[in-house]
Amino acid sequence: MFFGFWDFVLIPAILVSLYASSKVNSTYKQYSQVPSKRGFTGADVARFILNQNGLHDVPIEVTGGHLSDHYDPRARVVRLSQDVYYGSSLASLGVAAHEVGHAVQHDTGYLPLYVRNTVIPVTQFGSTAAIPLFILGIFVSSETLMGLGIVLFSAIVFFQMVTLPVEFNASSRALATLGGEGFLDEVELKGTSKVLQAAALTYVAAALTSVMELLRLLLMSGILGGSDD
Ligand SMILES: [Zn+2]
Repeated sequence: MFFGFWDFVLIPAILVSLYASSKVNSTYKQYSQVPSKRGFTGADVARFILNQNGLHDVPIEVTGGHLSDHYDPRARVVRLSQDVYYGSSLASLGVAAHEVGHAVQHDTGYLPLYVRNTVIPVTQFGSTAAIPLFILGIFVSSETLMGLGIVLFSAIVFFQMVTLPVEFNASSRALATLGGEGFLDEVELKGTSKVLQAAALTYVAAALTSVMELLRLLLMSGILGGSDD
């Protein structure tokens, strides 16, 4: 019952995920070794964009770890890894400007970000409860429990989907500002763009994985007519 043709639907998603994570690592590594000509650091660029958008009160902190950069909407803090904060490479500037893009989205009430943050609690509950409920549903032959698991898992899929416009928008804002304000020239922008595209691919892979996982649950539950064996 647990192994069937439905397990194969995950294979393309797993391959895309593996490709995306190796691509983001190699691209980041490549462009973190290319210094930007004007020499501004990630922190400089982040502070500039925040101030330009009237976000003087949003601090920029250094955080540990590699590629751990993020914007925390609850604390209203931009956290950059050491490489990005102090670095002036094409990768550093791209990541810094991208994370600040999330702060600007938050401030301007960018709808997909609002929706995404609103569904986070459901998603957190779903990621712990959806699969156990579904499996319990199979064991006790309860369509209600299986259905509940599927509904909760759908919240995760929705979250991953709404993350895509949030991420793409933060990257396009980043490139527009880095180019428009003269931090990077056109050739440099191409390198930075590759880093941000690789990062975006990891979100596409995560979304694809969740869709395939949902499809797999639907096939296993028999809702799509696949559980007769
Ligand atoms: Zn992002």
